[in-house]
Amino acid sequence: MSQNCIFCKIISGEIPSKKVFENESVLAIEDVNPVAPVHILVLPKKHYTSILDIAASEAGLADLSQLMAALPQIAEELGVEESGFRLINNCGEEGGQTVMHLHFHLIGGRNLGPGLI
Ligand code: 5GP
Ligand code: ZN
Repeated sequence: MSQNCIFCKIISGEIPSKKVFENESVLAIEDVNPVAPVHILVLPKKHYTSILDIAASEAGLADLSQLMAALPQIAEELGVEESGFRLINNCGEEGGQTVMHLHFHLIGGRNLGPGLI
């Protein structure tokens, strides 16, 4: 738990969210400002500032592994496991990261095309 982190407050229940998946180490919620019919944020429950924090410890790598392991279940829950989706991580200022708690955007529900930006 990091003070003043909105995602830590969502994880603790202090700020409400629409949960689509949860297990002991991972939470997936609807993004408040969706860019596609499916726009989910997948986050580790433990606070990591960014993807760069992950490599600093075995626990970080284990948490990332847990998050990846949950993806098939999350995609199935959202009905995009066959149609496909895009997974995005914004890291740092020029990477467009606005919430400093590691998260992945899972976006889909329409044809996103091949472009990355
Ligand atoms: P970033 O720009 O850091 O990669 O993405 C942050 C995302 O968090 C944005 O897409 C934004 O819409 C979303 N977001 C910001 N505040 C909240 C919130 O309080 N609840 C939820 N569910 N999403 C949020
Ligand atoms: Zn946090």
